[in-house]
Amino acid sequence: MNFTYRDYRALIGLLRDNGYAFSSYVNYPGTGKCVILRHDIDYSLEQAVKLARLEKELGVRSTYFVLLSSDFYNPASSSSYRNLHELLDLGHNIGLHFDETAYDYDRFGIDYYIRKEARILSDLIDVNISSFSLHRPNRFTIETQIRIPGLINSYGEEFFIGFKYLSDSRRHWREPVEEIIQKGEYEKLHILTHAFWYHEEDRELSATVREFIRSASREREGTLKDNITDLEKILLEAGENE
Ligand SMILES: [Zn+2]
Repeated sequence: MNFTYRDYRALIGLLRDNGYAFSSYVNYPGTGKCVILRHDIDYSLEQAVKLARLEKELGVRSTYFVLLSSDFYNPASSSSYRNLHELLDLGHNIGLHFDETAYDYDRFGIDYYIRKEARILSDLIDVNISSFSLHRPNRFTIETQIRIPGLINSYGEEFFIGFKYLSDSRRHWREPVEEIIQKGEYEKLHILTHAFWYHEEDRELSATVREFIRSASREREGTLKDNITDLEKILLEAGENE
């Protein structure tokens, strides 16, 4: 499949046609044949909101995992608050996306930092956070099977082994996702997609990355304009002096 909204729409249709009920980390028990849709937000909340709107249109709910330690977006900003609440208003769940490389663990263990970030995210958006996913975890961390009371580990055995796990990580499906859905060999599917890669049109990987770099510059200029009244004049003068 291509990384387009059209193909994502088709993926959801395929799941539906093959009898997979759309479930969540919490309410899947007793659902029978089901799928959990997961999205890790590595780069852009705006892209997440776009996919979330599409999912709402398709009548499905999923879980979006927010990276607190990201250098790409600020979960504490007012625009993030609006975006995250739009995700919730669209009927989706929010969990914590945790980057294990953000800390050294000399003083406290990984559980401490996951609990801390879940608490912070919960305070930021005024919603209880009950699940977490790991950002690019190493094999050891996955195998450690982190168990934290009150927080569902999406990499826990329950969802990693009990479910067939399929992911578009690094913009690459390692397994033929459509074929697996059609064969119906697995009763339970756990599908991770990254909204960042999906667009109206099919884009090359390099085009997506380049556009993201350009948009960062435009966004920064826009935000500066909100803060510095005569920004355009300043930039013009700077241009003349160069
Ligand atoms: Zn990630």
